[in-house]
Amino acid sequence: MSIKQNLEDIRSQLPSHVTLVAVSKTKPIELIQEAYEAGQRDFGENYAQELSEKETLLPKDIRWHAIGHLQTNKVKYIAPFVHLIHAVDSSKLLEEINKQALKNKKVIDCLLQIYIAKEETKFGFSFEECEGYLKTEDFQKLENIRVAGLMGMATNTSNDKQIRDEFRSLKTFFGKLKQQLPEMNILSMGMSSDHKIAIEEGSTMVRIGSSIFGDRDHTK
Ligand SMILES: *Cc1c(COP(=O)(O)O)cnc(C)c1O
Repeated sequence: MSIKQNLEDIRSQLPSHVTLVAVSKTKPIELIQEAYEAGQRDFGENYAQELSEKETLLPKDIRWHAIGHLQTNKVKYIAPFVHLIHAVDSSKLLEEINKQALKNKKVIDCLLQIYIAKEETKFGFSFEECEGYLKTEDFQKLENIRVAGLMGMATNTSNDKQIRDEFRSLKTFFGKLKQQLPEMNILSMGMSSDHKIAIEEGSTMVRIGSSIFGDRDHTK
């Protein structure tokens, strides 16, 4: 299957309110260009340096999503151009994004990453931490970020019921939080293996890599 066919295949399964982010981490420029020519404009990358290198080489109308865990000292590389930062998992990171956004005289859209998986390695706020943090003055004084929504990753398991329950818990929390932050309109959940369940449970943005570009080299 070609990238174009893969994209058409996936798009045909997505309701119109769901945005497809093509995850191109570790993939060469040529393959991203191929997806671009097939009409794809939203691309996601995990590593700040890789993201900024690719940004300089590819068309300027691409919307770049930073989807992976982001170190505070890397924010400056992506702040000038990034469209959306998905995995904001600490107040320290959000403060740094605010600082870099201010330097670039812009407002950066962010998603708070919420920890929903039953795995120890995943990053994110708990529901309680997130709610508590949004009420603090430290958060409310950040004027150069906008919390556009939430992001979450389900446990890497073949148990569909568990995945569904985790996504559902995030959607419920999203609904509750939206009363406090009515401008939130993005719920980023679902990857190649679980996007169907994620959409059924209310996702508005899916992050799909291997189903578009093929498997990644697993040493990376
Ligand atoms: C790599 C990655 C994806 C895409 O994973 P696939 O299984 O290739 O679709 C989605 N979200 C995040 C945060 C990732 O790191």
